[in-house]
This record gives sequence, C-alpha cells and structure tokens, in this order.
Amino acid sequence: MNKLNRKIAILGSGPAGYVAAIRASQLGASVALIEEKDIGGVCMNRGCIPTKALLRTSEIASFIKRSKEFGIDSHMDNINWNYALDLKSRIVKNNNIGIEQLLNAKGVTIIRGRGEVLSNHRIIVLTSEESIEITCEKMILATGSSPLLPNIKGIDSKGVITSDEALNLNVLPKDIIIIGAGVIGLEFATMFNSLGVKVTVIELLDRILPDQDSEISAELLKIMKRQGISFKLSASVKEIQKANVGLTVSYEQGEKTFTKSSEKVLIAVGRRLNSSLFQNLPLDIEKKAIVVDEYMETNIKGIYAAGDVTGGKLLAHLAFAEGKVAAENALGICTRVNYNAVPSCIYTNPEVASVGMTEDEATQLGILAKVGRFDLKNNSRALTLSERNGFVKVIADENNTIIGSQILGVNASEMISELTLAITLKAKASDLADMIHPHPTLSEAVWEACSDILKRAIHKL
Ligand code: NAD
Repeated sequence: MNKLNRKIAILGSGPAGYVAAIRASQLGASVALIEEKDIGGVCMNRGCIPTKALLRTSEIASFIKRSKEFGIDSHMDNINWNYALDLKSRIVKNNNIGIEQLLNAKGVTIIRGRGEVLSNHRIIVLTSEESIEITCEKMILATGSSPLLPNIKGIDSKGVITSDEALNLNVLPKDIIIIGAGVIGLEFATMFNSLGVKVTVIELLDRILPDQDSEISAELLKIMKRQGISFKLSASVKEIQKANVGLTVSYEQGEKTFTKSSEKVLIAVGRRLNSSLFQNLPLDIEKKAIVVDEYMETNIKGIYAAGDVTGGKLLAHLAFAEGKVAAENALGICTRVNYNAVPSCIYTNPEVASVGMTEDEATQLGILAKVGRFDLKNNSRALTLSERNGFVKVIADENNTIIGSQILGVNASEMISELTLAITLKAKASDLADMIHPHPTLSEAVWEACSDILKRAIHKL
C-alpha cells in the first residue's frame, strides 16, 4: 500500500472541494484532493454546466421560432441533437481540463478513486491500480448530493430517468412527464419544450418553485403555460407503469385519479445529501446534513465540511464560498460565509433570480418591509430585446436598507449581482437610486425599483 502525507485532505472535487483545494494551496498547505468520478463534481459534469450548455441550444431554437418577430423569416428544419450533446460534452470537458490545470499548477495532488475515512487523520483511497493511505492534519468533507428517488411504485421502470440521464438521452423523446416543479424540473421543462418535446410537469404543491416569491411563481407559471408546457399542480403521483410504448403515470388531484402517458418520465423532486459515507466518524448529522459551525467545522475538531453535504441551499456558488471558508479556517484564518447575501438563479425563459428576503419572509420577522417594483415592459432595453415579461422587486427595511430582491426577466441571473453587492455592503435604496446606471440597460430596472422604494421612480406612472 502506498502512503501519502498531506496537511489537508479533501474528499470530493465539486465546487466546494476544488475551491477548498485551490484556496488551501494558495495559503501554502500541501493538499490531497480525492475524487472517484470526474473533477468538478455534479455542477460541472451533471448539473450547472451541461444544463446551461443544452439550454443555450434550446434558446437558439426559441429564437428561431420567434425570428419573424424580428423581421427574419427562418424556421427550424432539423435539430441535430447528437451534435448538441457533443457540444455540451466538449464544453464540460474543456471546463474539466481548465480546473485540473489550475489544481496541478497549484501543486494539489489529485487522487482518483473512492475514499474511505478511517479516522480523524486517515483516509484510504482505492484507485484502479492500488490502495493509498493518506494521513492528514485536517480534513474537508465535500461529497455533495445525488438525485433523490421518491418512494413511488414503478419508479425503477425503464424510461424513468433523473437529471443525470436527461443530459445524455441518445434521442430527444416525443414527450416527457417531469415530476417536480422545482429548479431542476423547470429548467429541463424549458429546455425540452423549446426543442419541440411535449412537456407535462406534475407538482405535489399548488404552485411551482415553492421556495421563491409567490408572485414570481404565479407569473412564471402563466408564461410557461403560454409557451405550451402543461402543468398538473396539487397532484400526487401514485404509480408509474410500463406501457406498450413508453410509460403511464397515475396521479391523484383532489378526489380524482388521472393517468398520463409519455415516452420518458424525469424525476426532479430534490436531492439526497451524500452524508452517510463516514461511518467511522462520530459526526453530528441532522436531517441527513453534516452539522457545521459558522467556520464550516464539524463537531470533530479539525474536520470541516462544505457544500451540499452540509444541507441548506444546494447551490454551486454557495459551495464555492463554503469551500473557501472551510480551507481558510482549517489554516487558521477566521472567515465566515455571509448567508444573508446568497443569490439564486433559475435558468427558465425568462430567468428567475433572487437574493436575501422576500416581502413575506421580512414581514414574518416583524420587519415593516418596503417594496419597490419596476416592470420590464417599462424598461427601454427590454423593449429593444422584445423581452417584456417580468419585473424587478427590491425589498428594504424601515430604514430603507436593502434586504432582498426578486427578479423575473431576461438576464435576471446577471442583474442579481448588483443587489447581492447592495445587501453585502448594507446599502440603502438611495445608494442605488442615486447611482448612475447605463442607458439603455436592463439594470436600469434595478435603479427604478430602488427609486420606487423612495417614491421617486422616473419611468413609472
Ligand atoms: P427542488 O427542491 O428545487 O424542487 C423539487 C420539487 O418537487 C418541489 O417543488 C416539490 O414540491 C416537488 N415534489 C417533491 N416530491 C414530489 C412528488 N412526489 N411528486 C411531485 N412533486 C414532488 O429540487 P430539484 O429541482 O430536484 O433541485 C435540487 C436542488 O438542486 C435544489 O436545491 C436546487 O436549488 C439545486 N439546483 C440549483 C440549480 C440552479 O441554481 N440553477 C439548478 C439545478 C438544481
């Protein structure tokens, strides 16, 4: 057995693990990064990056469908799906190579294999050729999450897929049922629908995106229905059965039972945290999440955890932040994650982005929330883009300090950073209302929403 000694050993090379590895080596530590699959974890290989690459293809398809609106007579003759898959794989591969180059340049030792934690300072890794025993001073657990399969009869039928398989379908199905109207369900619904696949979304609750502002959920539901996506809300799936062709899903809505058939069924009802891999460590685990303190340290001194495996919001950029903080604290620099300013972006068409509190959350905390709002139909850049759907909402407290924002609209994912900065710096509505925003840009809607809090929006009746 080979032996290796490193100051820090990190289990998992997703956004939490690889950022922790780079940060730790920047701080002068010797680092071993253990990964059993591909460098970059779910985000880079089976999540954020491949979905956004395929969403770009579907976005082009939706532009072609709308081309007449812009004076171009064009139509979509053929989708070369295999080419789109190949393009997506090349984008992922380039990303993988880039991250690996960064890790190598920083001197991080990458060990490919399944790691098993033996004790506080020992991990054994089974690679394809050998076993390696790593001893370390500190450890960072960053093993992420996997698709959750609910207990539905027939869920193991052929043709039932998770997001992992949905990114690699050899042929585009004619139709698909998506179970779950959360982030994954709606991003895939957007992608498949734009590519001409008939999409039905079945959701347990009475609304889509239950974690988002209710007005955004309601407005996006209307827009997605207009795009041709069918929704079955307050619907509980009872069984999935193999049919002659494809699958049949039985679901209950109220007292009635319905059935719906499709070629594929995509399960998108949440993710399972990979926290049960550490049987040899007496870790505190609550609701399947490894419990950490504000420095990302677990109940065991010297063992840190970061990213999805610690629960909360399962977001790659939050995992970046947690990985960085875990590495810094492990090496004696006291830092924390600012959980008040965690943006979240959903790549539907149009996009959804939010940060901080919603009006309802602020009210529940006894804050006399002020809401500034600006509709994109009154923003000149949105008009030039023919993207009139949506709005920017900014939430401020009694002192006009910005505490939240929710955006529905084209490029919402880019606009939210200004408001994340505002919350981070504890800015007031007047700070953004008095700041010059370039014209014509979508970001003027942020300026107007902040001005609206102060009752001085310019382009609003
Ligand atoms: P989610 O929690 O966002 O949504 C799951 C949905 O499924 C909920 O609406 C829930 O009510 C519904 N549901 C649960 N059980 C059901 C059932 N039996 N039948 C019908 N509906 C049911 O989970 P997700 O969409 O799977 O995403 C998982 C995680 O990954 C989320 O935390 C998400 O934030 C993250 N993610 C983020 C991004 C992004 O940032 N753009 C993209 C993808 C995933």
